[in-house]
Amino acid sequence: MSGKRPDEAVRLSGGRAAGHCWVQRPSGPGHCAMHPGRSGDHVDHYNGRASVTAISGHRWPR
Ligand SMILES: [Zn+2]
Repeated sequence: MSGKRPDEAVRLSGGRAAGHCWVQRPSGPGHCAMHPGRSGDHVDHYNGRASVTAISGHRWPR
């Protein structure tokens, strides 16, 4: 076994291919969903939202 899970690799490359910064969140699961060139904090729009109508979820400094 290579030790690298193919599904994770596909998921990572998929996020970047979709135009996301996709930096791994340091304190838990999730990835930055902002544009790669954006300045400011990384934001995960898909995890940690307070409700389905919340604009963004987890946020962490770059
Ligand atoms: Zn980011």
